[in-house]
Amino acid sequence: MALIKCPECGQQVSDRAANCIHCGFPLSSLRTDGEVMIKISSKLQGRCKVYDMNSRKVLWEGTTGEVAVFSINEPTWVGVAWGVSVDRLDKVPDACRATVKAGEKWEMTMESTSFWGGMEYKLRRVDSINSGI
Ligand SMILES: [Zn+2]
Repeated sequence: MALIKCPECGQQVSDRAANCIHCGFPLSSLRTDGEVMIKISSKLQGRCKVYDMNSRKVLWEGTTGEVAVFSINEPTWVGVAWGVSVDRLDKVPDACRATVKAGEKWEMTMESTSFWGGMEYKLRRVDSINSGI
């Protein structure tokens, strides 16, 4: 635990407190660290990884259909790799990459783009995880 200065009243408070004990300011809104959840569609089959696109570190590894949960310290540019390497992720459409922030929930889905059967992977922010996708 560390002490930080409340931006509202200027007094010392714990960086873990949800609200300032002196003035009630919502300190949690200042936080940039925490968990991110990405539901990987169960329509995809196989192993899946979430990468930090800058450091190329694996943030999560699992199987499609699962919810990827990982912690970040700051807004992070991530890529979801299903069936491709992290280097291939640089070449696939933007849909598989996004900048995520702590506390956010996302979905990675596969959707047909046309009547003719084209497929596209989409990463989009959601309010709550839909386990049915
Ligand atoms: Zn305060």
